[in-house]
This record gives sequence, C-alpha cells and structure tokens, in this order.
Amino acid sequence: MDVASREGLLDWYSRYARDLPWRRTRDPYAVWVSEVMAQQTQIATVLPYYERWMERFPSVDALAQADEDTVLALWAGLGYYRRARTFLQAARLVARDGWPASADAWRKLPGVGRYTANAIASICLGEAVPVVDGNVKRVYARFCADDGTGPRFERSCWEWAERVLDRERPGQMNQALMELGARVCTPRQPKCGECPLSRPCAAYALGCPTDFPAPAPKAEVVERHVVFWAHFWGGKWGLRRAEPGEWWAGMWCLPTEVLAQPLAEEFSLGRFNHTVTRHRLRCVVAWKAAHDADLAWFSTEDLKTLGIPTAHGKALAIALRALTDASEHDRMAVGRESTA
Ligand code: SF4
Repeated sequence: MDVASREGLLDWYSRYARDLPWRRTRDPYAVWVSEVMAQQTQIATVLPYYERWMERFPSVDALAQADEDTVLALWAGLGYYRRARTFLQAARLVARDGWPASADAWRKLPGVGRYTANAIASICLGEAVPVVDGNVKRVYARFCADDGTGPRFERSCWEWAERVLDRERPGQMNQALMELGARVCTPRQPKCGECPLSRPCAAYALGCPTDFPAPAPKAEVVERHVVFWAHFWGGKWGLRRAEPGEWWAGMWCLPTEVLAQPLAEEFSLGRFNHTVTRHRLRCVVAWKAAHDADLAWFSTEDLKTLGIPTAHGKALAIALRALTDASEHDRMAVGRESTA
C-alpha cells in the first residue's frame, strides 16, 4: 500500500468511522472491555452490554472486586461465557500488578491473544503493532487477491498488516482497516465505489472482489434433540451451575438431557432451536414437578440476578409462560402450591 492510499484510508476513517463509546477514549480498561465483548459478537449487540458493564464496573478495580456470579449475570446473553470468566481473572491480575506496558506484556494475561494485545497496545499505548481480525483478513485477501487458506494465509495477513501499518498512528490505522472491512469491504456486497483503497486493490482490478477470501471449509453440523427440564417446586425453580468443561460452564442452567428421539408433543411446553458452536440444538421444554436436593432453588424474581445463558433463558421464558397460562389445577400439578 503506497503512502497516498494509506493517507486516503486514514482520512476516510476520520470522516466516516462510527462514533462508538470506546473510540472516544484511550483508557485501556474501556478499550479492553470493548475488545473482549466484540470477539465473535456484533457491535450492535455489544453496545447495550458495554454501557451496562461500564456503569456497573467503571474501572478495573471495580471489576476485580466483583464476584463471578455478578459478572456472569451481567454477561448473560453475550455467549462465550469463558470470555467473561477469563476477563475477570485477568482484571484481578491487573488490579494487583498494574497495567501492562506493551503488547508482549498484555499477552501474558489469561485470555489475551495477539489480536487483543495488539489492539489495546496500538490504540492506548501507540505501540506500532498490527491487528488482524476477520475484517482485516477480508480486506487483505481482496487487496492482494490472495485466495489461500489455513496457516499460510493467516501468516500472510499478519505480515501484510505489519507492512502497511502507519507507525506514527498505529491505533488509527488498525481501527481504519477493521472499520473498512466492517462497513465497506463487506462479505457479500463490497462498496468498492466508496472505498479509499479501490485504486491499488487487486480484486477490484480483477473485477471479482467476492471471490476473495477463499471460503473456509464448512464444519460438519451436528444436530441434537435436547430436553430442558423445568424443575418447579414450592414456587421455586431448580437450577444447577454448569461444571467446568461443560457448555455454559459457571452459568446457572436448567437440567438438560440429550434424547435419541424428539420428546413427544404431549409433554412439550414449547420448542426452540439454538446453535452452540457446530451443534444445532432442537430444544424442547418439559415440566419436572419434583424436588431435587442436588439443585439450587430460586424464586422467579431471583432469576433476574443470575447468570443464565441464552438457551436456558429461552427455556425458562417458555416454562414461565406455560405457568402463567396454566389453570389453577395445572399449577398445583407442577408444584406451584406445594412446599419443598
Ligand atoms: Fe474491498 Fe472493494 Fe475496497 Fe478492494 S476496492 S478493498 S474489494 S471494498
């Protein structure tokens, strides 16, 4: 990328970048929160979570003092809950040892990889280190007409991002490339006519931007029938905390069971689909009106304060709706009027 193209990109960024709250600051904590939340999650989804998070935990010290349940409750719905738990661990280390002073030092924290370390170090410390995320990969693949895949492609992306980096304004440059990928060089319909890099872009010159990058091999999708048992007894809901190594580890969940066949319709309170990594879950909710000493019991009001993953939140909403709709006789049957 020549100097004029780089200047054009930075000028485009200064004019058209979205006004996001974490872009108004160089506070490493604020930038870190945004980077952790934005991994695998759309910005529009992140925004309300970010606002709530910064209100509740305005500093790394405030976060470090929080307990995991409170953190997971605030994170509930963002998915990838391991991110939240690792972030809390890392925040406690920073609160104890102080802020890392370089990208290398950032990478020593749990859950902080090359992308996150370089993003924070370039934006907040002005360190000349590149970033590569999904957006930068797409811009690179098209700019250089690289249809490679796998580790070689990954390596070439990082080398290119390092080569084109503006060493005086690394934070701006990194954000400009990511923003270009998110807003202009989009996966399906890139707006090449508005792109500050169209002149040197190889895929544009070839007339086939969407041929790049090469499609990633599709992971095999596994379908599962899962029943979510709505344990309700004595006016309380029975939940269990998912163990380390399980899906939703650390979060509060309804007991679930994988079935060989879909549950018969007569037992179903409602159904929904949910995707976890490459697993497509066909979910059904059913009553389990019995006390179980292995579960922890919560009132409906208590549920609002717990870290409950999205799928279990959907299942509970179905069960709550069914409870509201049920006749008095039916409510007795599912244990609402009984005592534990
Ligand atoms: Fe992407 Fe088109 Fe710009 Fe090339 S010219 S970087 S394909 S938007």
